[in-house]
Amino acid sequence: MSLTAEQLEELKRAIDRRHQELGAEIREDVNRAREHNRPELAGPVPDPGDSSVADLIADIQNTELLRDADEIKELEAAQERIRSGTYGKCIDCGRDIGIERLRAQPAASRCIECQTVYERTFAGPGAPTL
Ligand SMILES: [Zn+2]
Repeated sequence: MSLTAEQLEELKRAIDRRHQELGAEIREDVNRAREHNRPELAGPVPDPGDSSVADLIADIQNTELLRDADEIKELEAAQERIRSGTYGKCIDCGRDIGIERLRAQPAASRCIECQTVYERTFAGPGAPTL
């Protein structure tokens, strides 16, 4: 493990902050989508502290939301890895991901080599790279 306790704390804070921002964004989008498209689904807005964002977005068909939802899932997976002590290790090869990459992308679950392979495998030619 190459991360110091301070570095881990720094990255954890970055993840938590991003998770909160994204969660607020998604709630707004979901509420807007419900008002516009499916008024019958409009209901009470959950508390901002509610962590069940996944439930909220489960049935929303919206590309932007799905992208945000993917990021939320990655952030939550990263939080889980922090709790279980495996954060900072590549989930594919087990090597240290590296503090520079983690600072740029705190939810990164793969080292840059494995991420490149992964993207080549799952994002075929012609896939949108926004
Ligand atoms: Zn790797």
